[in-house]
Amino acid sequence: MKAAVTHAFKKPLEIKEVGLRDPDPHEVVVKIHACGVCHTDLHAANGDWPVKPKLPLIPGHEGVGVIVQIGTGVHHLQVGDRVGIPWLYSACGHCEFCLSGRETLCLQQQNAGYSVDGSYAEYCIAHGDYVVKIPDAIDFVQAAPLFCAGVTTYKALKVSKARAGQWVSIVGVGGLGHLAVQYAKAMGLNVVAVDTSEEKLELAKQLGADLAIDPRNDDPAEVIKNKLGGVQASIVTAVNKKAFDSAYYSLKRGGTLVLVGLPPEKMEVPIFNTVLDGTTIVGSIVGTRQDLEEALQFAAEGKVKAITAVRRLEEINEVFSELEHGEVDGRIVLSF
Ligand code: NAD
Ligand code: ZN
Ligand code: ZN
Repeated sequence: MKAAVTHAFKKPLEIKEVGLRDPDPHEVVVKIHACGVCHTDLHAANGDWPVKPKLPLIPGHEGVGVIVQIGTGVHHLQVGDRVGIPWLYSACGHCEFCLSGRETLCLQQQNAGYSVDGSYAEYCIAHGDYVVKIPDAIDFVQAAPLFCAGVTTYKALKVSKARAGQWVSIVGVGGLGHLAVQYAKAMGLNVVAVDTSEEKLELAKQLGADLAIDPRNDDPAEVIKNKLGGVQASIVTAVNKKAFDSAYYSLKRGGTLVLVGLPPEKMEVPIFNTVLDGTTIVGSIVGTRQDLEEALQFAAEGKVKAITAVRRLEEINEVFSELEHGEVDGRIVLSF
C-alpha cells in the first residue's frame, strides 16, 4: 500500500510502498478514505516533544474509512462499517483511569501516528475496541477532523465547566480552534476568538464568534478585561507560549484556563494571582470514545461543520510547510 513515512525528524516525509501485516484477532483493517492533518503530526515529524514517536512512522490520527477485514475476536463490528481511528489507538481497559472514564490518561495507551502507525496510508490496522463509528449523515472528509480537532475542543469545553450564557475565549483559531468556536456556540456560550491572522479571525466571526482580537494590534487580556470583565474560561490551542500567558490574564475570578496546544516551552504562573483569584489551570488531552460519539453527534445534527481543503497524500510535505507557517484555514484533509 502507499503511505507517507517519516524516517528521521525534521526531514521530508517519503511517499512509498509499504507492506500491510494481517490483523491480530482483536484488530480490524480500515481502508482509509480521508485523514486530517493535525499540527500534532508536525510536532511528531519534528520530534518536538520529550516523548518521541517511533521511527520510521506513518503519521495521522484523524483517519476515517471503511472496515475491509476483521480479526476473529471482533464481534461488534462488520466489514463495511464506516469508522475513524483516533489518537487514542488503544488503552489497557483495566487500570484506574480506564475504569473511571479517563481512558485518555491510561499509561498503557498507544497513539495512532505516534507510538503505532497511523492513517497517512491507504490502509490502517486499528484496535477493534477503539475505533468509533461515523454517523451516516457525515461524509468522510467532514468526519476526519472531528476525530482529533473536534473531539479535543469539545472535550476541552466540557473540562472548562463553562455554562451557557458565559463567555469563553478560543485562543488560536486553526484546525482545532475553528471547531472550538462552533462547539462553544452550539453549547450556548459567548465566544471571543483570538488569533494572529486576519483571515482566521474573519473565519471565526463567520462561524459565530462574538468578538475577535488580534494580539498583534491589541492586548487580548486588556480588551477582554475592559469589555467583559474577563472570560469564564479560555481554551488555548495556539502553538505559542505568549498566547498561554495572555489567556491566563484574560480570565475573570474563578475562571479556568484549559491548556490544549502543545508548544514545547514552559509556562510561568504567578502564584499570588492564582491563589487570590481562585483560578483553575487544567490540561485537556483529546477525548474518550464517549466524548467522540458526542462530538460526532453535533456534526450529524448540522451544528458543527469542519472547514476543509482536500489535498493528496503526495502533497503532505507542502501541507506541513503551510501548517507550520500558519497558512491553513480550518483543516486540510488528505483524501485517498
Ligand atoms: P493549527 O496550526 O491549525 O492552529 C494553530 C493556530 O494558532 C493558528 O490559527 C495560528 O494562527 C494561531 N496562533 C499562532 N500564534 C498565535 C498567538 N500568539 N495567539 C493566538 N493564536 C495564535 O494547529 P492545530 O492542529 O489546531 O493544533 C494546535 C495545537 O494543539 C498543536 O500544538 C497540537 O499539537 C495541539 N493539539 C493538542 C491536542 C490535545 O489533545 N491537547 C489535540 C490535538 C492537537
Ligand atoms: Zn490531533
Ligand atoms: Zn488503562
